[in-house]
Amino acid sequence: MTLLTHLECSRCGELLDAGRVQTVCPRCGKPLLARYDLERAVDLLDRGRLRGRDATLWRYLELLPVRDRRHIVSLGEGWTPLLRARRLGEELGLRALWIKDEGLNPTGTFKARGLSVAVSRALELGVRRVAMPSAGNAAAALAAYGAKAGLEVHVYMPRDAPEVNIVEAEAYGAEVTLVEGLITDAARLLEGRAREASWMVVSTLKEPYRLEGKKTMGYELAEQMDWRLPDVVIYPTGGGTGLIGMWKGFQELQALGWIDGRRPRMVSVQAAGCAPIVKAFREGRGEAEPWPRAQTIASGLRVPKALGDFLILGVLRESQGTAVAVGDDEILSAMRLMARLEGVFPCPEGAATLAGLRRLVDEGWVDADERIVLFNTGTGLKYTHLLGWA
Ligand SMILES: *Cc1c(COP(=O)(O)O)cnc(C)c1O
Repeated sequence: MTLLTHLECSRCGELLDAGRVQTVCPRCGKPLLARYDLERAVDLLDRGRLRGRDATLWRYLELLPVRDRRHIVSLGEGWTPLLRARRLGEELGLRALWIKDEGLNPTGTFKARGLSVAVSRALELGVRRVAMPSAGNAAAALAAYGAKAGLEVHVYMPRDAPEVNIVEAEAYGAEVTLVEGLITDAARLLEGRAREASWMVVSTLKEPYRLEGKKTMGYELAEQMDWRLPDVVIYPTGGGTGLIGMWKGFQELQALGWIDGRRPRMVSVQAAGCAPIVKAFREGRGEAEPWPRAQTIASGLRVPKALGDFLILGVLRESQGTAVAVGDDEILSAMRLMARLEGVFPCPEGAATLAGLRRLVDEGWVDADERIVLFNTGTGLKYTHLLGWA
């Protein structure tokens, strides 16, 4: 079963008991990371044993935090297709391009991964009421997994959140509270209410297990590419858990001896209207400054200040990656291009990776023969309002 041993602070290294509900580091307030007995995993597991397992992220059960299988709350998340994108590659002059299509997840986005794992573990630790401030896809995923688990779910959303997310969360039976103002206002209101009512808040990186769900994107990439990682991974970055999680996944796979030391160069793509990571990366900073008046059609990228900014920047530098900002107009045309050439209708965040790749090709930052993976983090079907009638 799980080889989870303890939690460790990502900043100060404080060690914590994984057997109880934990949020962030009590000493420095930074995100906590789940740690496993990887030496034991070397003895117990090998790559061949994965064959024939469930076609979900739960195929990596020993390296996920749930002790008792009966607590797993699954809707079939993960093990999404890695699609060879030949026509798009030709268009860009690239010979080895893939799209990892996260749009096939339950609720239509990769947020399902993190919330399947976080809700499962919360259930196991005795939590019965969960809550989240969200403008978007995370709320829908929390509501869906909460419904499956029979938990009480509270979502606080800005009144102007996309209608699809509000409707979806309500359909899954969540109690939705619409708040005047921005996501930060919703978060503030929720914090107070959560303390009074003892709801567990599962905001990005404010509990350690959503990240564990997201690291499985890295595991899958390795397994689907026959344990030879690509040269470049391009990821749309908001809170950064996808990027941080994948990197953690690669470190674990290397400790297991399942991959060698070669890692992809990791690329963060952000929207020009909210690009705090790109700015901090270019300026050589260790943390990002809050982005004023954040605005973009790619709502998943509208994160003015990420709790894990120092971790994201660390991954970009350690991997010799980079960070790129793209305009909303480039994102819209990339949505159409990916759909037309590959039959994958991407969310704007996923399309941003294609727009970013175009820049990197133009700058000569990638070579024609490099193996490159774009992450489409969600389905365009949740964003049809952006395209309208052409
Ligand atoms: C949340 C979200 C993102 C941003 O992901 P992070 O891992 O938090 O950076 C990207 N795309 C979509 C569709 C999202 O919902």
